[in-house]
Amino acid sequence: MELIDGKALSASVKLQLKERVAALETEYGRKPCLAVIIVGENPASQSYVRGKIKACAFVGMDSRLIELPESVSQEDLLAKIAELNADDAVDGLLVQLPLPKHIDEDAVIDAISVEKDVDGFHPGNVAALWLGKPCMVPCTPKGVMMMIESTGVPVAGKKAVVIGRSNIVGKPVAKLLLDANATVTIAHSRTADLPAVCREADILVVAIGRPKFVAADMVKPGAVVIDVGINRQADGTLCGDVDFDAVAPLTSHITPVPGGVGPMTITVLMSNTVDCFIRRMNKQ
Ligand code: NAD
Repeated sequence: MELIDGKALSASVKLQLKERVAALETEYGRKPCLAVIIVGENPASQSYVRGKIKACAFVGMDSRLIELPESVSQEDLLAKIAELNADDAVDGLLVQLPLPKHIDEDAVIDAISVEKDVDGFHPGNVAALWLGKPCMVPCTPKGVMMMIESTGVPVAGKKAVVIGRSNIVGKPVAKLLLDANATVTIAHSRTADLPAVCREADILVVAIGRPKFVAADMVKPGAVVIDVGINRQADGTLCGDVDFDAVAPLTSHITPVPGGVGPMTITVLMSNTVDCFIRRMNKQ
């Protein structure tokens, strides 16, 4: 079994990005800039946002953090997004999810300019992804693919099973695996005999949000297992959706939690921001 070290992979990609950002600044006279809007004081969201701002500083990009109160109206939030859409100094824009109940998440995602949509959640980017056109690919799914590529295991022709069908992880991961010529099954909460479906997988990607859900009897010996789940346990520590201790010995490669997909997600966000910057600069 080999560990897919998300921290190490992410560190090496960030170093390359740092060099690229410095070169872009020389070429275009300014750095890429990511704007992050956070609403309210959800501790997990605050921690993710801190990580994003810190990563911007590390790769040498500018960032703007816009903190809005939990009580902010949808109208005021949309007005802030419109302002940042129109701001030429901002290349990438994201609103940290989840949002308070009184705000319509879809309306917020729709309001972000497709060109600045670094999360790749805008319907324009989602459609482009499924149509195989150039687009902003969502960060976690792209990070998952980079981790699979890092193993050197060829994806073409392999059986891949993705557990979870969310718009932000499961569905886009399945599309990226399909693009890499895997034969893809999307499994979910209503899948019949989930263990048998999973045991078929040469590549198993798990994104369900249930601690240690994937047991040893759900994994084919020699499979590559990517655990997207992040769950907080009663003792405060984090664990994934895969029962790591039981499953790891069976696999050829597996991601740990923490230190797996999480760091790669933030690194891809940096790279998506650089891509938005380059596209915007080349349009002017
Ligand atoms: P979600 O709640 O939107 O979707 C969960 C999916 O899991 C659903 O499609 C559902 O059908 C499936 N599911 C639920 N219970 C199941 C069961 N018993 N058997 C089979 N399938 C089941 O979740 P999400 O937003 O895709 O996130 C999934 C997990 O990934 C969460 O733990 C989340 O915190 C984590 N996550 C991590 C990152 C990262 O950067 N590492 C990014 C996004 C999400």
